[in-house]
Amino acid sequence: MAYRVLIAQFKHETNTFSKLPTTLDDYRRNCLIEGTGAIVGRFKGTGNEMGGYIEAAEKHGWEAVYAVAANATPSGTLTRETWETIRDQILAAARSAGKLDAVCLSLHGAMVTETEDDAEGALLEALRSIVGPDVPMVATLDLHANATVKMARNATALVSFRTYPHIDGRERAVQAAALVQEVLTGKKKPRCLLVQPAMLEGAEHGRTTAPGIMRDLLARADTYEKEPGINVVSVQVGFTWSDIPCTGPSIAVSHEPGAEARAKEIARLLIDEIWRRRDETSATTGYRPIADGVAAARTKNDKPGPLVIADGTDNPGGGGYNDTTPVLQALLDAKVENVAFGTIYDPRTVQQAIKAGVGAEIDVALGGHTDQSMGKPVKARARVRMLSDGAFHNDGPMNAGVETNMGPTAVLRIGGIDVVTTSNRIQTLDLQVFLSQGIDPSAKDVLVVKSVQHFRAAYGPIAREIVLVDSGGICSPDISRLKFKKLRRPIWPLDGVNDAYAGTHA
Ligand SMILES: [Zn+2]
Repeated sequence: MAYRVLIAQFKHETNTFSKLPTTLDDYRRNCLIEGTGAIVGRFKGTGNEMGGYIEAAEKHGWEAVYAVAANATPSGTLTRETWETIRDQILAAARSAGKLDAVCLSLHGAMVTETEDDAEGALLEALRSIVGPDVPMVATLDLHANATVKMARNATALVSFRTYPHIDGRERAVQAAALVQEVLTGKKKPRCLLVQPAMLEGAEHGRTTAPGIMRDLLARADTYEKEPGINVVSVQVGFTWSDIPCTGPSIAVSHEPGAEARAKEIARLLIDEIWRRRDETSATTGYRPIADGVAAARTKNDKPGPLVIADGTDNPGGGGYNDTTPVLQALLDAKVENVAFGTIYDPRTVQQAIKAGVGAEIDVALGGHTDQSMGKPVKARARVRMLSDGAFHNDGPMNAGVETNMGPTAVLRIGGIDVVTTSNRIQTLDLQVFLSQGIDPSAKDVLVVKSVQHFRAAYGPIAREIVLVDSGGICSPDISRLKFKKLRRPIWPLDGVNDAYAGTHA
């Protein structure tokens, strides 16, 4: 008899400092689908974790029960209705599936709701109470998870991304599923533990594009995973913009019953390294003023390819509003030409453009609507160059093959700048943000992307130069601007902590 395995995805990176609550509509706009046909149809063959689980289920001959695939662009706290609706879809599927042999989940690990600071911990605990103590249950996590002891206690393994940009979703799901298969065939009997230091951030936010602490940690994790009794060693660097008790880095180790002491030691060794090299994180944020980006845009350069200005603090991938205007205004003021700007979230202006039609000239007040303290709307005359439904399939390395939906989209020409104006908030991580809108990014002198790191996977290879700028958006690396109330204390670097295991959360 084939093993019966429940598979589900429920992801969100919640920026609790955002004023935009996350609703069911936000999920519907991005991804909220139920049932085997819809889920397999959307994800089979993609680089997403669900693509990995589908592949593994076929390889191992499982009878897979696909419950829900839900993902929304990072934003504020999930409404109670959103959380309970999607959670209950997964729990109902678990209850009605008959006897389950295993559960495979694709989670983020930094989801916060109106009622749950540790939503993934609550979901895993609820599922555990349905399936019982012995059924293997694995979860893939983002490497920016604020992972918790509750998640680890209820999971067989937490398998976190090992790349940033995150291009290994499929691979991690295949790894998690392989462990499940070993449990099902009686070869393994894992438990999972987690250690978290008194740190708000660390390991250089997880960057893996250059040599540094994150690559060193992952190399050590790879080595530890080869030891007998150790199944998975995961490094989570945390997501700073979340006012909950458990924000910050952690190490999760899935181990066999006899290797618990060694698993705890491994977790501590990696935490010790994160602590020892803590100053590398604040020193390497890499942000520069907008003026540096504009100066680079005005500098004649013989190297091929565009200058890429990354508006990292308005990155919707971290909960940024995706509509702040200081970078756009600065480029307009400097009269920089041959620019493509991706993207500004402004559904009202898109509707205005649709009404006017392609070729029309309209007076716009573009962007800057969510929080005018981060920049006012850009008032300008714009020509409507193209209108579309804003849907495309990613063809870059990240989330390869997955459908992205920008919603009704207008390309507006203002001065020398083509502004991709969208109805959904979408991180600029794939070249199709421009290509699908009739813009060849390689032919532009300057590209502006709303992203802090993920854009590097697709845009790094075509860029002549990259300048990461701080435009004063909500994802600012200046943590003194964040007013924490629920965060565990004391914590580095906000308090005078001189021990990685200070406080009670070690
Ligand atoms: Zn991440």
